[in-house]
Amino acid sequence: MAALARSVLVTGSNRGIGLELVRQLAASPWPPQHIFATCRHPEGPRGKVSVGAGSSPLCFFALADIVNLPSIRGAVRAVGSHLKDQGLNLLINNAGISSHATLRSLDSQEMLSVFATNVVGPLQVAKEFLPLLEKAAKDAGKEGLSCSRAAVINVSTKLGSIGLCLGVLEAPMYPYRASKAAQNMVTRCMAAELQDKGILCTAIHPGWVKTNMGTQKAPLTVERSVRGILAVLASLSQDTSGAFLDWEGNSLPW
Ligand code: NDP
Repeated sequence: MAALARSVLVTGSNRGIGLELVRQLAASPWPPQHIFATCRHPEGPRGKVSVGAGSSPLCFFALADIVNLPSIRGAVRAVGSHLKDQGLNLLINNAGISSHATLRSLDSQEMLSVFATNVVGPLQVAKEFLPLLEKAAKDAGKEGLSCSRAAVINVSTKLGSIGLCLGVLEAPMYPYRASKAAQNMVTRCMAAELQDKGILCTAIHPGWVKTNMGTQKAPLTVERSVRGILAVLASLSQDTSGAFLDWEGNSLPW
């Protein structure tokens, strides 16, 4: 059995789904050679100490505030120099924020701040890491699309599906839903544009998960969600680039 990818970068890896992605990747019997755990405060109380995998020689911790371009560029430099002459195989855009604003309560500032994190952030991260992803795709020595060659995974949500339009009356969440619908469009566009460069792009809904964002009411543990996500990532190919899948591999309507 081969590793999911030789190198993996996860944004927002200090807690929740991002933290568990790093933990399970580091604990895998076939771990990646390099795991880049990025977050806003790697040296802070919610930084690498909480990762637990902090002692793993596979993990490299880097600062990446996804709404701050110099911070993203700093992460690209740190990752690039760590990888030396290799490219980056798998970028997981996990970091995100939620908002429960309703039509009555929302204001433009909140709308813009959620869009900055959930749409502009992942897009800028993908844009800045593109040269390293292209390098991985070129050097892979294989055809077709896969996470082991080069991929961008955007962590999305069913709540951003216009086709499903789930539970709007109970949870309107205008900024969050609209931002994730926009992020889904970004995924579709990047999948089309990057296909010829050998880079796969897919949106994944992690399920409703017990994290700060998902709350303790969520039915799914973070361990189970991430186990599912990693299995789905390993199965992705040309056929599922540009798809919107859930943590069990089921296809979702955009
Ligand atoms: P959490 O709230 O537990 O964690 C969010 C993570 O994103 C934190 O690490 C946070 O860092 C990070 N983050 C937020 N803003 C930034 C930023 N500007 N730069 C870098 N990191 C940032 O959420 P989850 O783990 O539950 O969510 C992860 C992803 O999964 C999100 O994209 C979310 O939309 C999606 N999702 C989650 C669901 C759930 O039920 N939990 C359901 C569907 C989708 P910090 O500690 O610094 O704030």
